[in-house]
Order: sequence, then structure tokens, then C-alpha cells
Amino acid sequence: PLVMDEKSGLLMPPEVYPAALNPFKRANAAFVALVRNNEREAMRNSMRHLESRFNRRYNYPWVFLNDEPFDDEFKKGVRSMTRSEVFFEHIPRKHWSYPSFINQTYAAEERQKMVDEHVIYGGSESYRHMCRFNSMFFFQQPILESFDWYWRVEPGVEYWCDIDYDPFVFMEANNKVYGFVIALYEYRRTVESLWDVTREFARLHPEHIADNNAIRFLVDDRNKGLQDGEWNNCHFWSNFEIGSLKFWRSKPYMDYVKFLDEKGGFFYERWGDAPVHSFAAALFVPQEQIHNFYDISYRHNPYSTCPQNRKLFHDNGKCECYPENSFDLDGYSCVRQWWRSAGKPAHYE
Ligand code: GDP
Ligand code: MN
Repeated sequence: PLVMDEKSGLLMPPEVYPAALNPFKRANAAFVALVRNNEREAMRNSMRHLESRFNRRYNYPWVFLNDEPFDDEFKKGVRSMTRSEVFFEHIPRKHWSYPSFINQTYAAEERQKMVDEHVIYGGSESYRHMCRFNSMFFFQQPILESFDWYWRVEPGVEYWCDIDYDPFVFMEANNKVYGFVIALYEYRRTVESLWDVTREFARLHPEHIADNNAIRFLVDDRNKGLQDGEWNNCHFWSNFEIGSLKFWRSKPYMDYVKFLDEKGGFFYERWGDAPVHSFAAALFVPQEQIHNFYDISYRHNPYSTCPQNRKLFHDNGKCECYPENSFDLDGYSCVRQWWRSAGKPAHYE
């Protein structure tokens, strides 16, 4: 029905509010973005993609985290991109600084070696704090305590298909723990000792290793396992994640990251949160509780995915990406190893 607009006196359509018209149940979930003030416009671009492809019909809240206070321009800029509730949180110093047991002189020497070898972010201290934060602390921020699920978003990412169902509710309904889009080979120089340290942890804590884990994602030789196999460098790209916060808060994961932290590799090497999350998901969680969102078209420079089924995604206005360009088909993708670990043909086969 039309309603009278007070100001103009004209009969107008009522405010159209897509999320209010969506009667489906929601999960207890939020978008989470760790981001800097100077990444405002890139953050707004990510939000524009996600809001128009999905969240305008669901209204999940946005949580922004920063090691510095957010400035007013940032707050105003991102608020204007969503009708959802928005939270801004300043990360405490203890989650973004050197623990006392780290030898900072040695850390600086190791950084210099990486600079000499032109390792990407090799000389950056902030990058290391960021990776350690995403590995150990993001899920411990008080604002996230009241949520069960999160969707990680970085500035400058893109979504090229409509998402016409609720991935959070999907995760919950199907008993999933960790969802990814892109899997690929890690740059080994940044995580030289991480595989061995992880094996050492598994020997100390066999009770944390799931029976039907996804070891076939990490080890190619099918006659070998975690202790005698070599890591193929496959990992999930953590700039996209839809996951369970309860899993990161669980004893296996908390024990694992504490063990990793004390080894010092976040600073002496350049351990990424992507391989850390990947090892934990692949080893502590049964394989069937990990989900490949191959129906989500996602881009984080320089890779993007695109669903392959033309009838479901491309002949009906849902997507504007090119299936033949999907990174899943690329030799550098590890998605085939993941489908191998599932014991199924890959989604594109
Ligand atoms: P890359 O994807 O590995 O190239 O790393 P990014 O530069 O995209 O950083 C990963 C995520 O951490 C992004 O969401 C960044 O916005 C965020 N980030 C990186 N460094 C910092 C930092 O020093 N402070 C804050 N607040 N966020 C950071
Ligand atoms: Mn990034």
C-alpha cells in the first residue's frame, strides 16, 4: 500500500527494507574485519559487494578491529555502507606486542635475512603482529564473545555472485566448523619450521587430533601420514573465512597456538594465520566438517573464484564472473587436494 509522505504530501511506496522482509531465521553471527584507518575506501568497496550480494537481505552486524583507534571519517564511511549494526573495537596492547620470551634482537636479525632474500613482508613487524593477532587473539576480543559464527572480510575484496542463502545458517545446519573458498600453496620460506612444530605438538597431544582428519589435504603420498609424510604446502587462504568461533576457543586450538607462540615463529619466521588456521582445521576437525564454498565467487588480489555450473549460476543473472577464469582450475590451487581428502571428485570435475 502507498503511504502519505509527511513532507511532500504525496502518496509514496513504504520504505523497502529487504532484511525486514526476509523471514528466515538468522545465526548468531557477524562480519569481522581487521583494518586500518587508511584502508577506508577499500573497506567500503568490500562492504558494497557483500551488502548488495548478500547482507542487505540478512542484516548481520559488522565488527571492525584495529590496533589503533578508528577515526571519525572511517566510522562515518563504513556506517554509510550498511543498515546493520556496526561495532568499532580498539585491540588491547597485549594482543599486538612482543611477548616477554621473544628475543627481539634475534627477531630483527631474522627479519633482515628475509629482506635480503626479498621475502614479501619479510621486514615488516606489523605484519607479524597482524598474523599473530589473527592466529591467537581475534576470537578473544570481548565484542566477539557473544557470537558463535564469523565471516572474515578484508578491505578490497570482491564478490561476483549473489549469495541467495545464509552461509552461517548453512554452517550451523550442516554441523560445519570451517568454511573456505581458496586453497593454495604456501610460500615455504615464511613457515620453515611450522610443519615440524605442528608434528611435535601432535605427538604431545594425540588426543587433539581428529580421527577422520583432512591429512590427505596436507600430504600427497597416500602411504604416509602426519608424522612420516611431507607437507605439500597446501593451506586455506584465510582472508576469506566463515567459521565457528567456538572452535578457535576450544582446548585443542588454544593449546596449539600457545605452543606455537612459545616457539617464537610468529616473529623469528613469519608464520601466517592462514597456515596456522589450516593445520588446526585439517587436523583437529573431522574432514566432513570443513566446507568448500565453491558457489561463492570471491576475489582477493591476485586470485578469484567463479562457480562452474553455468545453468545454476550463469544463465540466470546470478553471477558476473567467468567460470573458465576460476582459480580453482589453476595449477597453483590446492582445491583438488581438498576434494581428494573428502574422497570425492572435485566440484569442477
Ligand atoms: P595480505 O593479504 O597478506 O597481503 O595482507 P593484508 O595487508 O591484506 O593484511 C591482512 C589483513 O590485516 C587486512 O584486513 C588488513 O587490513 C589487516 N592489517 C594488516 N596490517 C595491519 C595493521 O598494522 N593494523 C591493522 N589494524 N590492520 C592490519
Ligand atoms: Mn589481504
